[in-house]
Amino acid sequence: MTADMTEPLRPVPDEDGAPFFEYAARGELRVQTCAGCGEPRFPPRPCCPHCQSFDSRWTKTSGRGRIWSYVLPHPPLLPAYAAQAPYNVILVELAETPRIRLVGNLVASAGAALNSVDPARIRIGAPVRAVFHPLPDGPTVVRWLLERP
Ligand SMILES: [Zn+2]
Repeated sequence: MTADMTEPLRPVPDEDGAPFFEYAARGELRVQTCAGCGEPRFPPRPCCPHCQSFDSRWTKTSGRGRIWSYVLPHPPLLPAYAAQAPYNVILVELAETPRIRLVGNLVASAGAALNSVDPARIRIGAPVRAVFHPLPDGPTVVRWLLERP
């Protein structure tokens, strides 16, 4: 396989986080949820911080949320990212579990470049939905589209 040099930094799933990426590869955004008390948690980890249970399940979400915050990274950046600046990194508050916020990129389509959305169009509170992008030699990552582009 050929390395995708447009995004050299990519997630390296560990044992706890692997299901997140396995579901993403199937087009599902799921959140680890305590099987004892029902509390969702992110990032995935072995033990519930609320009730200390080690039992968990993966709850399917709608994949919808809203932009809670965002940044436009500025230099110094790694060369592959500097070539794409200005691009965005958004923090998405999930609709069903607003205490969980996921870091990602707002893009024009699942496989579009990181700079495919004009930063002037990004608004805190804007509704977004998850899309799934299989990296050429890595896991499937979750990205975000504006609900009303
Ligand atoms: Zn619990």
